[in-house]
Amino acid sequence: ATPTAVMVGTGKGAELGILIKKSESLERAGDITTVVLDKTGTITRGQPAVTRVYLYHFKDEDDLIRLAASVEKGSEHPLGEAITAEANARGLSLSEPLGFNAIAGHGVKAEVENKQILVGNRRLMEKEGIDLSGAKDDLKILENQANTVLLVAIDDQLAGMIGVADTIKEGSRKAIENLHNMDLEVVMVTGDNHRTASAIGKEVGVDSILAEVLPGEKAAQVKKLQSEGRVVAMVGDGINDAPA
Ligand code: ADP
Ligand code: MG
Repeated sequence: ATPTAVMVGTGKGAELGILIKKSESLERAGDITTVVLDKTGTITRGQPAVTRVYLYHFKDEDDLIRLAASVEKGSEHPLGEAITAEANARGLSLSEPLGFNAIAGHGVKAEVENKQILVGNRRLMEKEGIDLSGAKDDLKILENQANTVLLVAIDDQLAGMIGVADTIKEGSRKAIENLHNMDLEVVMVTGDNHRTASAIGKEVGVDSILAEVLPGEKAAQVKKLQSEGRVVAMVGDGINDAPA
């Protein structure tokens, strides 16, 4: 009766908005030991908003937001949208960026008003040789408060940082509790940094966290868990979260 069960299951899934690509996936569902959840857009809403702005060697908060948003308007990342939304809310008018470049898992860069602007995480700044020593303490505080921090450098100098926070979906904690009741291990995976990831992971009660994972590395992380004997179900919000 397996084919019938699979057919009914696939049909029922489709009714609920769940697409099943291969019937083997459904047949193996009973063997799952581990559920891997993407952070942004799966555990959280995926609609981050600006919470705080810090300035370093730079005078004007609106100016910093304006320059950062002028770069981010070329980005499709929710973090970029958070910055352009903030610029809008402040009534700032943006400039046209030149040579826009998005670096997956790192951030964005472009030239704005003859200035070289970088917006991204610690990894991006380190790659570009930007000195972060002045910001380290503030950075820790924001990350411990579950903020994702966007560092902003202007002409090779750290100019400021923008704290951005996403809200946890209402049902996330309960969903993870339900998975635990089914004796499943729950792992969170994210490109975000360890501190922010662990602040969110603790709130929802996941068993472990894989942080600072580049988009192209997520599948390899799942393979690693499988090679350790786990049967893994991966849950993500986007096409880029699914294996090829
Ligand atoms: P996730 O989907 O888990 O949030 P991503 O790979 O999309 O992971 O992003 C990882 C990190 O890369 C972000 O937390 C951020 O630090 C940085 N980043 C990515 N895109 C941008 C962007 N447009 N502006 C600033 N930082 C970004
Ligand atoms: Mg994502």
